[in-house]
Amino acid sequence: MRHRIVLQNITHSFEDGGMRRVVLDNLNVSVAEGELVAVMGPSGSGKSTFLSIAGALLEPTSGDVLVDGQSVIGKAHQELSDMRLHKLGFIFQSANLIPYLKVEEQLLFVAKQGGMDKKQATGRARELLQKLGLTHRRSAYPEKLSGGERQRVAIARALMNDPAVLLADEPTASLDASRGMDVVRMIAGEAKEQGKAAIMVTHDERVLPLCDRVLYLEEGRLVEH
Ligand code: ADP
Ligand code: MG
Repeated sequence: MRHRIVLQNITHSFEDGGMRRVVLDNLNVSVAEGELVAVMGPSGSGKSTFLSIAGALLEPTSGDVLVDGQSVIGKAHQELSDMRLHKLGFIFQSANLIPYLKVEEQLLFVAKQGGMDKKQATGRARELLQKLGLTHRRSAYPEKLSGGERQRVAIARALMNDPAVLLADEPTASLDASRGMDVVRMIAGEAKEQGKAAIMVTHDERVLPLCDRVLYLEEGRLVEH
């Protein structure tokens, strides 16, 4: 079983009105290929901070993040942004689609950023749209889509460059129960089929049965109950 992402001894503190506030305190977690891990915890417990560090968007105060064995710490700006493009896929609470691009163009845009050639990108976009049930929407602009469709486009976009790790921050927050289940089923299915590691921050108890492990962020660490 290959670990696709490993967070080692992650500590993170913020300066807060002259005081140092430790949000993550020697946190350790590894996620293997095929695994979907849910992360829960009250507001302010550090979930988004954790996910930003896992996704190389924020450098921890100390500790290391390994993605497919490759360390994130100490990398130059360009190397980090390449790593984010190729190894990490992000899905946020709201889909954050680009308003002036059609569905298919949203996918081609990230493929281009990742340096994929046009023919391969077109093929992959078609394949993902088909898989996520969006083929008939490929020429629609985001404003014409339902919340569930938007979130499926966001998943397709996150998968476009075939990342090792999927990171989702409350991906079902803006969806009704059944759409929310669909979205998490897709994330879980993609992890299983493609051997990706997935980490999902969620408040949504209903989707927990679809996850392989549920971890709680408590006192700066991830614990199993
Ligand atoms: P959650 O996502 O679980 O609600 P966050 O990771 O957003 O929690 O925040 C954890 C704590 O860190 C909160 O107390 C928040 O105020 C603080 N925090 C988050 N980002 C910053 C920042 N950029 N500067 C200072 N404090 C921050
Ligand atoms: Mg948050």
